[in-house]
Amino acid sequence: MAGKLAIGIDLGGTNVRVALGNSDGRILKKIYERTDKSKGPEGVSKQIIRMISSLIDEKTSMERIEGIGIGSAGPLDIRRGGLMKPTNLPFDFVPLVKPLEEEYNLPTYLLNDCVAAVMGEKHFGLGKSHNNLVYVTISTGIGGGVYVDGHLLIGKDGNAHEIGHFTIDFEGRLLCGCGRRGHWEAYCSGNGIPNYSKLIIEEKGLMKITGSSLIEEVRRNGYASITAKVIYDYAKVGDKVAELIVERIGILNAIGFACVVDAYDPTLITVGGSIALNNPNLVINPIKQHTGEHARNRIPEIKLTPLREDAVLYGALASVFHQKEIS
Ligand SMILES: [Zn+2]
Repeated sequence: MAGKLAIGIDLGGTNVRVALGNSDGRILKKIYERTDKSKGPEGVSKQIIRMISSLIDEKTSMERIEGIGIGSAGPLDIRRGGLMKPTNLPFDFVPLVKPLEEEYNLPTYLLNDCVAAVMGEKHFGLGKSHNNLVYVTISTGIGGGVYVDGHLLIGKDGNAHEIGHFTIDFEGRLLCGCGRRGHWEAYCSGNGIPNYSKLIIEEKGLMKITGSSLIEEVRRNGYASITAKVIYDYAKVGDKVAELIVERIGILNAIGFACVVDAYDPTLITVGGSIALNNPNLVINPIKQHTGEHARNRIPEIKLTPLREDAVLYGALASVFHQKEIS
């Protein structure tokens, strides 16, 4: 079998996923494991090397592999080729590029996970005919990747368009994981939704309400039982309090999307991340409904990504075959 191959890596705080794929955008093999945080900052690259080696068998000659792409949750330090004080790993610096290049002697590219995902969308997803394209993930956190005029935005450290940290609440009622207040992610991400739900319930005095299973749940088990999944699951079965919370989340998401539309003027925004993928209508519909109330620019198409949970992996592969976009 001829053709070019690459290794793609999706490194998150919970899982690390490694894939072997080709330049047509086909993932041939993939594996995932829990991210190993127990062996220090060097343990992460050692884990990745072990996973890559298990993907490569004698039929896959190393000569056909063009390079390695890594999409990782940030913040990145692309000049040093690693992560600096990552939010979800307990280390000051996690080296990635150097240990992989030393092991395999292949060019290795490091990208913010959402920058990787938008490359995946551009080359292997819905973005092929779009020069102005944004990918938004609504997951544990919120992030974005952006092409403007066919040009992929990177930034001085590789952290362009940290859209999850747009300030959408100037009163700063909720604290973001980054240490600042009022950021979009603090309200509408998987980590933020439980806190935002509690805020809405308390501000509106909803604990007094009868007939809401969600409120019953809080009475029985406390706020600790409220996760994003619980909120969306109750909204799906018509619980009025959960529907109200989902509506409020939708309005804040729309304000975030309006900022994205006015900053980058895209023709297409694709949306991924577990919260959006698991609740497509409840997440996407309010965004479509309300973004126009806040944006000055013409509203683009807004669609769920067809690359699903593999968007970052596709992008990590694309970064190898289209490395001129990131150099
Ligand atoms: Zn923040």
